[in-house]
Amino acid sequence: MDFILSEQQSMFRDSVAAFARKELAAGALARAHAAEFPREVAQKMAQAGLLGITLPEADGGAGGTLMDAVLAIEQVAMFCPRSADVIQEGNFGAIRVLGKFANADQKKRFLSPLLRGEEVIAVAMTEPDAGSATTDLATTAVPDGKGFRVSGTKVFPNPHADQYLVYVRYGPGVRGIGSVIIRRGAPGFTVGTTSKFMSDAEWASLYFDNVYVPPEDVLLPAGGFKQQISGFNAERIGNAARSLAYGRYCYNLARDYAMTRKQFGRPLCDFQGLQWKFADMKIQLDAAQLLLYRAATNGDRGFPAADETTIAKLYCNKAGFEITNEALQCMGGLGYTRETLVEYCFRRSRGWMIAGGSLEMLRNRLAESIFERRFSQRPPRVALGDTTVS
Ligand SMILES: Cc1cc2nc3c(=O)[nH]c(=O)nc-3n(C[C@H](O)[C@H](O)[C@H](O)COP(=O)(O)OP(=O)(O)OC[C@H]3O[C@@H](n4cnc5c(N)ncnc54)[C@H](O)[C@@H]3O)c2cc1C
Repeated sequence: MDFILSEQQSMFRDSVAAFARKELAAGALARAHAAEFPREVAQKMAQAGLLGITLPEADGGAGGTLMDAVLAIEQVAMFCPRSADVIQEGNFGAIRVLGKFANADQKKRFLSPLLRGEEVIAVAMTEPDAGSATTDLATTAVPDGKGFRVSGTKVFPNPHADQYLVYVRYGPGVRGIGSVIIRRGAPGFTVGTTSKFMSDAEWASLYFDNVYVPPEDVLLPAGGFKQQISGFNAERIGNAARSLAYGRYCYNLARDYAMTRKQFGRPLCDFQGLQWKFADMKIQLDAAQLLLYRAATNGDRGFPAADETTIAKLYCNKAGFEITNEALQCMGGLGYTRETLVEYCFRRSRGWMIAGGSLEMLRNRLAESIFERRFSQRPPRVALGDTTVS
């Protein structure tokens, strides 16, 4: 497998780096500590053609590849880690689900404003009693005329989004699950009190009380769960790319610091205790990079990339967290302050080991692939009047 970038990819990478240096480097610290999603960055990126990189030109995208979107995350994060979120939201996850499954009218109403950087979308999937067990979700969509009435509670999404891609239950079982799009402000839809993750990013519970969803806002009817979840493969590549990019950002900063900061009359990089940390960080960065590029490249070639994506996310999430942690250590007290973005990258990286498929659930997935069978996570069924486990 050849991971030397093509001339076109190199040119794209360099142009994104130039954009990020000019438009995003100044203000990176303030942006990281601001609660709100950086909408002004989304508009700049829309103008620079960095939203919808992988979507067809006919839909307002750039007709590029997953690798291009990964390169964009890497280059943007190098200058402004927080702005990599905008590349993530504008290219992976919900936006790709819309690109793939929305009809022409839905694309015009929901996808286009996202690609113009005017609106933000969030996924409303997790519920108080349905986290890793996503298919236990209880938010119902009950027929009402040609549309549906949605009732239920979601937790953890961005409370400031304009649109929510809401996972709903039209009927029992996995086959009863699909999704609708609900706009902020819809009658019966309330965003709860804003709270914060460890990263300082905000989240809130969403309450749907008999919210009317017209038929034209149904994205996937019953039976759509698998299609929807397939969008997660791409989401995971973006998530993995951000973890790795944050690791690289901190590694670069700590490396510069170790070459200039002196203690005991010598630069820190003279001390073997730190040299070995950097050697280990470099190995993790390279290994993670290879796994990520393999997943993105094979995803672009249309091969089934589920295992490769799972492995890439798992490894990049761990590497990102461990490298940001070690880089912080190498920078001593300064690394722990809010004067640099190392502590920010550390806090953010921690969350990605839970979000978008926790490390444990990814391992479960991989085990099923290794042993070529499904391992139900549900309690064993016991026949009535019998103690035999079926
Ligand atoms: C930063 C961040 C952003 C998020 N953003 C969103 C969002 O935008 N929209 C949204 O809908 N949700 C969002 N989430 C929620 C996220 O999807 C869930 O936190 C995740 O699915 C885990 O669910 P849970 O928190 O309920 O943990 P639980 O499912 O209760 O799991 C608790 C722990 O047990 C482990 N575990 C559970 N089952 C098993 C098993 N069978 N085998 C082994 N281990 C298991 C889990 O891995 C975890 O470590 C976000 C979460 C975070 C941290």
